[in-house]
Amino acid sequence: MASLELKIEAKAKQLGLGPIGIIKPQAMEGYIHRLFERMLRVPNGEKLHRGFLELFDVRQAYPWAKSIVVTYADNSIYYLPNVARKHFGKFFLTDNRYNINAPARKMIASLTAFMEGLGIRTSWNEHPGVTGLRWAAQEAGLGIIRRNNFFFSRRAGSYVSLTGWVTDTDMELRSTHKEEPCPEDCSLCIEACPTGSLSAPFTMNMATCISCANSYTDSTAIDDHKLNVLTGSWLYGCDNCQDACPFNQITGYSTEIDFPGLMELDHYLYPEIIADLDYEDINDFIRPKFFYIKSESLWRWRLNAINVLINTGSSDCTRILKKLLKDPFEIVRRRAQNALELLGS
Ligand code: SF4
Ligand code: SF4
Repeated sequence: MASLELKIEAKAKQLGLGPIGIIKPQAMEGYIHRLFERMLRVPNGEKLHRGFLELFDVRQAYPWAKSIVVTYADNSIYYLPNVARKHFGKFFLTDNRYNINAPARKMIASLTAFMEGLGIRTSWNEHPGVTGLRWAAQEAGLGIIRRNNFFFSRRAGSYVSLTGWVTDTDMELRSTHKEEPCPEDCSLCIEACPTGSLSAPFTMNMATCISCANSYTDSTAIDDHKLNVLTGSWLYGCDNCQDACPFNQITGYSTEIDFPGLMELDHYLYPEIIADLDYEDINDFIRPKFFYIKSESLWRWRLNAINVLINTGSSDCTRILKKLLKDPFEIVRRRAQNALELLGS
């Protein structure tokens, strides 16, 4: 009779999820060492990374935990419109978190029900996940964490959506990944990072990472003029350190499979449109997909759009900035005024 591990693996495969790995909670030990390393390397690292400490030992939050099941969905199978991929991180365009229409979300629900049906108690959460999922996936042998910090699988490159469950059942299923490690002399991802946030392998300063700065609402990043300029054309997210990786060139986003709802949203994903849209429309159409910017901080979208309009030299920039002088939010009016002064308009 097949073991529980093999039954779960077979079900995941049937559902279309990536390979399954199962590790014991104590296999997360290396995660804490890497986290402390990063805290020391990055200015203000202890404060910036404190929140990740609780992801280390699942037995703190789930005293009944005996194993961690981890898998991923391949996001690289989807077609991405060109404008969207220029301004939005690819992961965010195909994010399944809080998206009940995402195929991966349905697969996750089915696998949860399947494990529960086998008599296994599970716990899963949408975000940030039950543990440090990149580390768990590496430990389980599903792939490796590359020097740009992203988990890499041969099947999907780094364009994956990891997910994991804590279970009350003593199980283990590890494979031996066959991914080549990063070449000793490669630093392409570090060179591609516009802000120097990725200053060394396995390092990343959240305070200066574009992907953090244009999605989390952090007041220090908002008024950092240098950072706003270095943001370039990124409205939400940043893929520079993933796109620069030679190992990622084999994976795609070139297929004809549509991600549910993305094409309908496509015409909203231009900086010119976002800067011009009513806040009600931003809240209804854009916010639900890109959930890091909350309803109470919708002005963040305007600031991001202003950055991109200026950085890319949009021909519509002056007209839009003048309109934003009447924005309901003082922070937007101030930024528009400053931008117009900078442009000499
Ligand atoms: S996401 Fe962008 S800013 Fe952040 S580390 Fe990577 S290249 Fe640098
Ligand atoms: S660009 Fe080079 S160093 Fe960076 S993750 Fe890819 S292979 Fe590794």
